Amino acid sequence: MPKGYNGKILRVDLTSGEIKREEPSEVIYRTYLGGGGLASYFLLKELPPGVDPLGPENILVFAATVITGVPVSGMVRYSVAAKSPLTGAYGEAEAGGFFGPELKFAGFDAVIIKGKALKPSYLWIHNGQAEVRSAAGIWGLETGPAQEKIRQELGDPRIRVAQAGPAGEKLVRFACVINELKHTNGRTGLGAVMGSKNLRAIAARGTEKLEYHDPEKLKELAKLQADLISQWGPNKVMRKLGTPNLVMALNTQGILPTKNFRTGVFEGAQNISGERMVETILKSEEGCYACSVRCKRAVEVAEGPYATSREYGGPEYETLSSLGSLLGIDNLAAISKGNELCNRYGLDTISAGVAIGLAMECFENGLLTKADTAGIEFRFGNAEAMVQGIEWIAQRNQGLGNLLAEGVKIAAAKIGQGAEKFALHIKGQELPMHDPRGKTGQGLSFALSPTGADHIEAPHDTPFANPGPMLGRIAPLGLLEAVPARDLGPQKVRNYVYLHFVWSLFNSLGICNFTAGPVWALPLNKWPELVKAVTGWETSLWELLKVGERTVTMARVFNLREGFGRKDDTLPDRLFAPLEGGPLQGKGIDRNEFADALTMYYEAMGWDPQDGVPTRGKLAELNLSWLDEYLKGKR
Ligand code: SF4
Repeated sequence: MPKGYNGKILRVDLTSGEIKREEPSEVIYRTYLGGGGLASYFLLKELPPGVDPLGPENILVFAATVITGVPVSGMVRYSVAAKSPLTGAYGEAEAGGFFGPELKFAGFDAVIIKGKALKPSYLWIHNGQAEVRSAAGIWGLETGPAQEKIRQELGDPRIRVAQAGPAGEKLVRFACVINELKHTNGRTGLGAVMGSKNLRAIAARGTEKLEYHDPEKLKELAKLQADLISQWGPNKVMRKLGTPNLVMALNTQGILPTKNFRTGVFEGAQNISGERMVETILKSEEGCYACSVRCKRAVEVAEGPYATSREYGGPEYETLSSLGSLLGIDNLAAISKGNELCNRYGLDTISAGVAIGLAMECFENGLLTKADTAGIEFRFGNAEAMVQGIEWIAQRNQGLGNLLAEGVKIAAAKIGQGAEKFALHIKGQELPMHDPRGKTGQGLSFALSPTGADHIEAPHDTPFANPGPMLGRIAPLGLLEAVPARDLGPQKVRNYVYLHFVWSLFNSLGICNFTAGPVWALPLNKWPELVKAVTGWETSLWELLKVGERTVTMARVFNLREGFGRKDDTLPDRLFAPLEGGPLQGKGIDRNEFADALTMYYEAMGWDPQDGVPTRGKLAELNLSWLDEYLKGKR
């Protein structure tokens, strides 16, 4: 009998209606752990290359991990994965909240969904049972009413619901999956994959307790984690201000994306800061399952054109920047409204903001006119345009909404006339709100992420740029020296390689990035103790980090199989160009240094230095020789 996890996954074929249970071996669980690791294993095994991401052949995986749901702060995340309709590459996104733990309590570690339901449906999972139900009365509803209706229909207010919103139904390519109306698997368009399968939601409820190998040790670690969270500086800031604390921090460093990444300082930063939120519209600090950090924000705007309900949470840093500084908007109420709308409709706020940024820059340069925008001045700084743009995208309304719903890569190609230079994406996924010109390791991270531009592939450069306590946090990896934030030499590549294994492991263990090392509370060396206390496995940091490396490598092979390679591991031209203002004015990323760092990274990974194809030996070392057949003709 496994400890800490169920040892069971659920398989649902929406075309035939068949539901099966499967019990993967302990070797599979220990090799891939869960989350991104387990999901990429199933996608590579079962998804043939070249399928239409929005076709019934695509496979959608919801995966918790072997430790998701243990009562220790931060052990809460689950992954959703599929071939991405936004990029055509590997798609994966993590979310906290409550759905991951509930899926485990309901009796399953993961759900694999194939096919397409004949009619709108949702999946109901409870205490080891599962059924596909009609979503006839739910299809078309915003996320709030849909969640309410599912709970009413099933007669239990404690049911947890992960769903695609109306944007997913309409196949917006950056539609997200959202649980509890505010915790999103935001990136790579996985809500559209749900929509394409006529699957509106998964509802889960479980009352069975999981057994742990060493409950006393687990209690000890839970107490240690709670003590660290209350004392460790970064976690104290996170509790007080949430991720919005980053607005002023990044603005001071000159890397707050502003006006479509033209500059890194925003004159209105103070007005959209975490501090201003606390003083004005913050109603409560909220959290995820069993987490004492409580970094989530719930905001309320009582009246006016941007009246906002706290039910949908509040904007995170990424949203304050993507719907704020990126668009030159310093109206906190309007940004909160934009955030609420994205959560009501099920849209990724990062991609939505960057899509509107594309429209604004095209408008200011005459590539779009009032004839395209229903008479609205689509200029930077216009909050009305931002809010209206989100409505249009979610509904695929007006020509412009339908265009932007395709993501900036496709939209810019359709606009033509050079619009591509205003489309800030990598592999088709819109840039997150971090400017790599002030932290070049993030540039590598953006370019190399298998999901397209992503800011949570590795810790950012700045905490490790100077001597101090933060550097001590990565010493167990042998990373002992400070490396300047803008350095792009061998030391930076080494830091990136080791640290992206750590963050990849986060995704396979379902650990929230804000609760564990390198930057946050629980130090790296405690992770093996935690996994042992839960599962009983006599593990080590070495074994766990190998899972991180294995998962990075599997996603690489997935993308190579789909035709991606070195040509796609790059940055938009704008990031090689100099910043137009702020303390880093005039600084860009050096193309030669970047290309050299990329080659060095491939070599460090045991990949071919030309195109980043993993060698036979590296696959063998990672117990991934079964992937060799996918790389025929590529070496
Ligand atoms: S730190 Fe914040 S996001 Fe992470 S689990 Fe806790 S409350 Fe959720």
